[in-house]
Amino acid sequence: MSFRIGHGVDIHRLEPGRKLILGGVEIPWEKGLLGHSDADVVCHALSNALLGAIGEGDIGRHFPDSDPRYKDASSIELLRRVMERVKARGFRVSNADVTILAERPKLTPYREAMQQRLAAVLAVNLSAVNIKATTGEKLGFVGREEGMMAEAVVLLEPELPSQSKTA
Ligand code: MG
Repeated sequence: MSFRIGHGVDIHRLEPGRKLILGGVEIPWEKGLLGHSDADVVCHALSNALLGAIGEGDIGRHFPDSDPRYKDASSIELLRRVMERVKARGFRVSNADVTILAERPKLTPYREAMQQRLAAVLAVNLSAVNIKATTGEKLGFVGREEGMMAEAVVLLEPELPSQSKTA
């Protein structure tokens, strides 16, 4: 068994009257992301990257938005369930790199909280989860503040029996 890589992308529309949740952290803002779940683009992109790495499709296949069980679902919880699939396949996360595309608000004050939340779920050290944010330079749907996007790349390594005890 060797290393596996996965990539994920997600986009959600911004709407007034919705909570803004990114990387499992609630961010006070005038708009939030619209979706069947809490529409956390960071957790969705990461979940898709993990599922891609283990060759198990995408979150739409595992948690369909036609299923009422996932209405208003917490996406960090869905990420936790995806991690169970990763472990069941015999892998652990080596590192994850996330980019958030959002015009506003400034995400720097929340970056560490997101990193902590995600590192706990991914079962890695803080340094193995990198979160970057960029604006859309006022261009396109991101720049017009119509939506946000996230991209994630993950590397998985085989979970060796001897490693699981020292983690
Ligand atoms: Mg999504």
